Amino acid sequence: MKKLGILGSTGSIGTQALEVARENPELVVTALAAGSNVDLMEKQIREFHPRMAVMWNEKAASDLKNRVADLDIRIGCGMEGLLEIAASDQVEVLLTAVVGMIGIRPTIAAIESGKTIALANKETLVTAGHIIMPLAKRCQVPILPVDSEHSAIFQSLNGEPKERIEKILLTASGGPFRGKTRQELLDIRVEDALKHPNWAMGRKITIDSSTLVNKGLEVIEARWLFDVLPEQIQVVVHPQSIIHSMVQYVDGGIMAQLGVPDMKLPIQYALFYPDRRPMGGRRVDFFALGQLTFEEPDIEAFPGLRLAYQALREGGSMPTVYNAANEKAVSLFLDRKISYLQIPELIEASMQNHKKIDNPNVEQILQTEAEVYEYILTEV
Ligand code: NDP
Ligand code: MG
Repeated sequence: MKKLGILGSTGSIGTQALEVARENPELVVTALAAGSNVDLMEKQIREFHPRMAVMWNEKAASDLKNRVADLDIRIGCGMEGLLEIAASDQVEVLLTAVVGMIGIRPTIAAIESGKTIALANKETLVTAGHIIMPLAKRCQVPILPVDSEHSAIFQSLNGEPKERIEKILLTASGGPFRGKTRQELLDIRVEDALKHPNWAMGRKITIDSSTLVNKGLEVIEARWLFDVLPEQIQVVVHPQSIIHSMVQYVDGGIMAQLGVPDMKLPIQYALFYPDRRPMGGRRVDFFALGQLTFEEPDIEAFPGLRLAYQALREGGSMPTVYNAANEKAVSLFLDRKISYLQIPELIEASMQNHKKIDNPNVEQILQTEAEVYEYILTEV
């Protein structure tokens, strides 16, 4: 039996994790948290009977409390609630599947209290990897990647020491606008950018996939998870999304993990690691596929990827600026307040405007985020 807590249970990753739990009764769901979706949270509570549930939004929490008054469950709210789940002795594995930097503090609290972390919330590692990874090492807590590429790298590494890695080949679908020129991206609308060719995901990450900022965040995430240099991470566009990523070793040999694009596999792998459990569903049919193809990423049309490498090389608070500027720009784009190409433009402007802090602590990271948000609002 494994006691599972999920931060972000009503989202794309969260609901798929609950599907995994539904199929694996050894996973006992003990704590759930979400933002404001009370309807779905109530359904999840009635099906999985967690001991605790948290809504970020205060009104949502009090609404939820009334709706489940017939059940023996503790309802919490806000950051206090997330931290309570993170530290609870009712949780052994914590799946961090909220969007954005809100995940930093609960992840730190969970590591400090010895929980295994199944990490989907990449923004946490991008901005606070220099805090999270050494802390996890000190507390002897495993950080198990849920992001499909990082899960693939983790599976391809299979315990090999990092000295044997020559480079990591991080695959990218290229998103819905692969092959388009900068000129052709000028009047992309929200509806166009929300259509991903291979994966069904939350809104923010779907936009990030179309701009290649998601790949940029994943480059930074890989740097922290696998302790490699920026020049050891190469992005390879692979439109079929069958190879989920690869590791090239010092002898030139390459190990890859393949499968149909389905997040349930990396989620289940992280939740049961080191065990590999059976899972139904579709299988790769190589004859139907015919061919797998590869391309170089187009950093002229998609500068978001180039800027991620720049932020990673500059280090300190720069990846936070990259991430925060993107978060704000994407939310403005989704609200139809800015154009598609303004997303990378605002990231670049925010990075140029920022005075880097070396080795920022959590307060400085959150302060940097707030400053970037403010800067962007004065720019648009
Ligand atoms: P979604 O937008 O689908 O879901 C986000 C979840 O977080 C929802 O449950 C939402 O609740 C909850 N949430 C939002 N804000 C808060 C808050 N302040 N406090 C508590 N809960 C909150 O996102 P995804 O599932 O797509 O992504 C989650 C994370 O996983 C992201 O970091 C993403 O980059 C990463 N990821 C996602 C992949 C995917 O396939 N979706 C693949 C790889 C990584 P509510 O519904 O109430 O708003
Ligand atoms: Mg990914």
